[in-house]
Amino acid sequence: MKVMKFGGTSVGSAQRMKDVCQLITQDGTSKIVVLSAMSGTTNTLVEISDYLYKKNPEGANNIINQLEQKYRAHVNELYATEEYKQKTLEFLKEEFDYLRSFTKILFTSFEEKMVLAQGEIISTNMVTNYLKECGVKTVLLSALDFMRTDKNSEPDFNYIKEKATDIFEANPGYEIYITQGFICRNAYGEIDNLLRGGSDYTACLIGAALMSEEIQIWTDIDGMHNNDPRIVDHTEPVRQLYFEEAAELAYFGAKILHPTCIQPAKFSGVPVRLLNTMDPTAPGTIINNEIQYGKIKAVAAKDNITSIQIQSSRMLLAHGFLRKVFEIFESYKTSIDMVSTSEVGVSVTIDNKSYLKDIIADLMKYGTVTVNENMCIICVVGDLAWHNVGFESLATQALKEIPVQMISYGGSNHNISFLVKEEDKKRALQSLSDTLFNK
Ligand code: ASP
Ligand code: MG
Repeated sequence: MKVMKFGGTSVGSAQRMKDVCQLITQDGTSKIVVLSAMSGTTNTLVEISDYLYKKNPEGANNIINQLEQKYRAHVNELYATEEYKQKTLEFLKEEFDYLRSFTKILFTSFEEKMVLAQGEIISTNMVTNYLKECGVKTVLLSALDFMRTDKNSEPDFNYIKEKATDIFEANPGYEIYITQGFICRNAYGEIDNLLRGGSDYTACLIGAALMSEEIQIWTDIDGMHNNDPRIVDHTEPVRQLYFEEAAELAYFGAKILHPTCIQPAKFSGVPVRLLNTMDPTAPGTIINNEIQYGKIKAVAAKDNITSIQIQSSRMLLAHGFLRKVFEIFESYKTSIDMVSTSEVGVSVTIDNKSYLKDIIADLMKYGTVTVNENMCIICVVGDLAWHNVGFESLATQALKEIPVQMISYGGSNHNISFLVKEEDKKRALQSLSDTLFNK
């Protein structure tokens, strides 16, 4: 069975929900459908939570009431029959009363998770009711019954596999199986989530757990592009990506996919296809275990990067210097993206500046520290294994007019990263596109 995931904009209005239902039922085959909350809803639930944290029940109630009105209007538009309108309005009444109940109790992160979960609970109930109204054999299986994280807040894959298999086997014969993206329980059974944008992750975990034939992520873009179409002229969708190439691209900026979600799919060898709800017959991008020999696939950029260079005469012939440097970053829970070393120094980049002052203070014990903010990592992705001669020089050639502060190559077979100033980003991306793809 295929797993199909639809994000917030794909279910963002009554009409969009109808389009999704048309799309998932048109060929009559059985499918697992993972849905996000309607677009904007999770942000609104975050806003409600902020009011509740600040002990402002009126503020929270105002937004809850506005959201309720919006949903009631969707119901009127979505359903044709009184029966389903009434049924869904009753469900919404219970949901919004439940949200209002949080204004009367102490609000902690525990309650916040319950509030944030309601967006997906509402969207999946609405779509399930609509499919039932249309006479489609549909069942809603709650993600809270099989999606679970472990004590490190990582998905508990073995548990998910076992539970999901049991639950799907106990419900044979349906055409459409609906479930919620994003939401889960934690190791203690409490309601939790897979972090913002986590519905992709849900879909990949389910697809991997059930060894689906394919995981489809439906958005409103035509697959992954070979460069950022908002910045660069003449970009094209990439038809095929190796799992690791897709992971690099997702991490370094191509917003279309949740960066960690590829891992379970890669692990189980289940292909992931990115498709466009606005143009459902377009081929999109397939992500699988195939490497296209010697091919550069795409370029992506990550902004808001800070580089830190530590130079020390003591590094010369000293062992343990890098460990000491890295330990400082670790102690401030700050992860490092790029690293370059020389005999007398090391440069790293970070994207989380929360502890920058403390980190610099600690690093100064080991040498001279230089910091550059507003930098940008440009990453070139493809089959760039070192025995494929000439690809790294092609990328470097494209940047010959642009000041490059760091280069990282050889960390994997699929990536070369360049650190440039943010102000040079557009020029760098355009020049890479022109050199690598638009010859
Ligand atoms: N609704 C959640 C969010 O907005 C999860 C998702 O859309 O993937 O982050
Ligand atoms: Mg998303």
